[in-house]
Amino acid sequence: MALLSNPQVTAEVLQKYGFRFQKKFGQNFLIDGHVLDKIVEASGITKEDTVLEIGPGIGTMTQYLAENAGKVIAVEIDKNLIPILEDTLSEYDNVTVINGDILKTDIEAIAREHNNGRSLKVVANLPYYITTPIVMALLEGKTPIDNITIMVQKEVADRMQCGPGTKDYGALSLAVQYYAKPEVVANVPPNCFMPRPGVGSAVIRLSLYPESPIAVKDEKKMFSVIRASFNQRRKTLVNGLAGGGLGLSKEAVAAALSEMGLSENVRGETLTLEQFARLSDILFA
Ligand code: SAM
Repeated sequence: MALLSNPQVTAEVLQKYGFRFQKKFGQNFLIDGHVLDKIVEASGITKEDTVLEIGPGIGTMTQYLAENAGKVIAVEIDKNLIPILEDTLSEYDNVTVINGDILKTDIEAIAREHNNGRSLKVVANLPYYITTPIVMALLEGKTPIDNITIMVQKEVADRMQCGPGTKDYGALSLAVQYYAKPEVVANVPPNCFMPRPGVGSAVIRLSLYPESPIAVKDEKKMFSVIRASFNQRRKTLVNGLAGGGLGLSKEAVAAALSEMGLSENVRGETLTLEQFARLSDILFA
């Protein structure tokens, strides 16, 4: 099978199988070999690695991963794509395709069964409608992961990377930066996909820390503080947290802020991750 990164080969496969794109599954297939080379290079995969691919589509990226990795486990929700993948990946004996929803897949079991429990690398051109839940499940899950190299909506890549005081800063930025070092490795225009998405895209690599550089006593509590702060973006932190269902009084929040040398009128969007960790430690001491 010729490489599907050639748009003509993709068009022929789609026609052969009478495939209809399903918008509800966020199907935009890559048709650009340079972008695929860049993704593989950024992920740093070698023949020693087992790669988890989320949403292989017709197998365009899977072909590149199979050439470069030891093993590829690809989870695809759309059952209509399974016979196509059997065809387009028939030359590779190191690929396992699983028909299922990644949000309901036991990724730890995949690492156990296919990689003796060793760390996986995750590579994907993600379905944009569920980017955040997928990334959060990967970051918060128990599966050991080295890095996650993913195509996401450009605006979401910005959110993952930015710091306090910017308009995109929020709970996703803080969660990503607690667990990983994010780096945008490429900006990708709509004409690299079939069909073309209505938004710009970017490839971002999240290199997971073996242990977060941020010391906090209870990370769950810290994330509940972060969520409550950003749920009420327009309120001051005192009002947001006191009304955030965490059982905190205005006085307790104000006292904690004062202990940290911060004003009572401060807003959550100006706090760094270190400050959220400290605030949570004080509030729940
Ligand atoms: N990897 C292919 C490529 O780059 O050409 C396809 C990428 S396309 C943006 C996203 C893929 O994820 C589609 O094949 C879609 O069917 C699949 N998908 C959508 N939701 C999914 C889910 N919950 N679990 C697994 N796969 C999913």
